[in-house]
Amino acid sequence: MSSGIRVYPLSLGELTNDVGLPLYLGGLAMPSDPEHAAAMCTQSMSAYVIEHPKAGPILFDTGVAPEREGLWPKESIELASPSLYEPEHRLDNALNAAGFELSDIKAVVISHLHMDHGGGLEFFRGTNVPVFVHETELKNAFYNVATGEDFGPYLPHYIDPTFNWVPIHGAKWDLFQGITLYQMSGHAHGLLVLRAELRNHGHWIFASDQFPLRRNYEEPIPQGWIMRDHPGWWRSWRFTKSLEQRFDARIVFGHDKDEFAKICSQRFYD
Ligand SMILES: [Zn+2]
Repeated sequence: MSSGIRVYPLSLGELTNDVGLPLYLGGLAMPSDPEHAAAMCTQSMSAYVIEHPKAGPILFDTGVAPEREGLWPKESIELASPSLYEPEHRLDNALNAAGFELSDIKAVVISHLHMDHGGGLEFFRGTNVPVFVHETELKNAFYNVATGEDFGPYLPHYIDPTFNWVPIHGAKWDLFQGITLYQMSGHAHGLLVLRAELRNHGHWIFASDQFPLRRNYEEPIPQGWIMRDHPGWWRSWRFTKSLEQRFDARIVFGHDKDEFAKICSQRFYD
């Protein structure tokens, strides 16, 4: 009997930042509450191995670079360095724990090129592993690094022409049998959401930072300061709702610590 797609969660640490980043109007002071204290929230950082019967193990997102000093500007280190990053959270070690070597990975899909998703491309430096990313995101990332207009979320160390970039075009792209990519807007201009069809666990929609928290998707609450296209986010939210319904899919949120802990209760899903 042929095997199907398997999904392995990888825990790559935690990020702690102001709740106003993931949640619109989060922590905002009001005239009735002018001294409203800022609130912090801790979020998981994750990636997934999606093992495909023909294409082999594919990695969805890569987390941060293993060393940030010297690669990241001081402000990015202060704002977005992981608040938890032990040796087991390094991408290579997390892969080992799931039963893979870095060299097993046949392709990388980057949801978007912010440094907590694309920074771990450092582990693939000098390899020819294809790095799938949406055309719009690739262009936008290079532009933002070059002009400095959105420097910080996008950093030059991995926005590097020596990687084997493979652009994805348009709104929908069937990457491999059972794996489809959709372009979304809001958090980044060319964010890719990945849908995988599992044999025993149905369809999973890996939302990445389109919906970092379940609250973003369910209540819904758009993102806060990390938002780049407000009406685009709402369009993509409605589109994802239609996908969820059509495929009776499970939504996998990008940084939701509680949701990720539930997923990590199993080593893999098939
Ligand atoms: Zn993120």
